Amino acid sequence: MSERTQVGIVGAGPAGLVLGHLLHLRGIDSVILEDRDRDYVEKRVRAGVLEQGTVDLLTEMGVGGRLQREGLVHHGVELRFDRRGHRIPFDELTGGCGITIYGQQEVVKDLIAARLETGRPLLFEVDDVRPEGLDTDRPTLRFRHGGDERELRCDFIAGCDGFHGVCRDAVPDGVLTRHERAYPFGWLGILAEVAPSSEELIYCHHDRGFALHSMRSPELTRLYLQCEPDEPIESWPDERIWEELHARFESEGWALKEGPIVEKGVTPMRSFVAEPMQHGRLFLAGDAVHIVPATGAKGLNLAVADVRVLADGLSRWFSNQDDTLLRSYSEQCLGRVWHAQYFAWWMTQLLHRMPDDGDGFQTKLQRAQLSHVVSSRAAATALAENYVGLRR
Ligand SMILES: Cc1cc2nc3c(=O)[nH]c(=O)nc-3n(C[C@H](O)[C@H](O)[C@H](O)COP(=O)(O)OP(=O)(O)OC[C@H]3O[C@@H](n4cnc5c(N)ncnc54)[C@H](O)[C@@H]3O)c2cc1C
Repeated sequence: MSERTQVGIVGAGPAGLVLGHLLHLRGIDSVILEDRDRDYVEKRVRAGVLEQGTVDLLTEMGVGGRLQREGLVHHGVELRFDRRGHRIPFDELTGGCGITIYGQQEVVKDLIAARLETGRPLLFEVDDVRPEGLDTDRPTLRFRHGGDERELRCDFIAGCDGFHGVCRDAVPDGVLTRHERAYPFGWLGILAEVAPSSEELIYCHHDRGFALHSMRSPELTRLYLQCEPDEPIESWPDERIWEELHARFESEGWALKEGPIVEKGVTPMRSFVAEPMQHGRLFLAGDAVHIVPATGAKGLNLAVADVRVLADGLSRWFSNQDDTLLRSYSEQCLGRVWHAQYFAWWMTQLLHRMPDDGDGFQTKLQRAQLSHVVSSRAAATALAENYVGLRR
């Protein structure tokens, strides 16, 4: 079966769904292809910190209703080390800015509902997606769906299929330059059915390793522990997780609340950028083309920022065949991407225990940096400005 659309979008994560909706609002057709089922995509627990720019865009797009009602607005975070907490007041340091805590799976649910309401195609459980003809002006997506072999002829393809997707690898050898760093640790993340123990996020530096206290709602706490990058989750029964969390977060007058663990998993920490973010009629966006360590809370926000630029470029092309914005897509996005890489790397090296730190030299440097950040307004402002969001 052969069909046609203006933009073929691979992946129904935040990047693909936001792009599909922005194009819809501008009267541009798209078909979104997703290899997982709807239930899986809507329940996948990942990021949860939204920059103001992301919140504003979702609201302008008309998908921010529940986000406005249920999102938790935060105006600061705590840095905890040597068993003492130090608040970084974002609003005071950045002229009133903050962040919103709203789970990525909730963003995805809202976007899927909005997509289905438009009546435009969103196909779940597609198999074997093959982007072809990227160097021509009629690129094609071949795939299988419901047992049928299908062909989708497009004007453009958007590769929004995450780090393990197929679009990046469809670019011919030698076109992309890949920059990659794998960190010698990962994060063990849990979701617990218990009210958060603090109103704001706590980034904790400890001799036993980094820990993060976050939340998804007034009833759900999200907690992370630094662990080995390939740590088998079976070696972390619930009791061991709580014991380790209590040890790292210990601070006078503060207690960590426990509750049933409803989700747990290990995520490796990686920095990755492939550039340019475009080849022929294929445009790569979000995790398909860059990964940042989660310490800076930038992954989801970067994905949304990419497709905002892409939607503007496509819109200009479809209205008058002007490709000026499309030609500068990669360059426009990469400035922000590298800035986010820098910030995420900086937060990561500041807060994690370094496994190769034999004589404790790096730990001493980390303590000196942390003391500087919490005692110098200029240093705290740099952290706050980066955390609440990079300018467009
Ligand atoms: C386990 C985990 C935890 C994370 N935690 C945080 C965090 O705490 N804070 C933070 O800021 N960021 C976090 N991130 C990063 C953040 O979630 C991502 O940056 C964000 O999801 C990027 O959105 P995306 O749409 O580009 O990619 P994705 O969300 O990965 O979406 C890609 C979509 O494409 C689909 N797909 C893949 N291959 C194919 C194919 N061949 N055909 C069709 N569809 C395909 C996938 O199923 C998926 O739905 C985390 C990421 C992971 C993996």
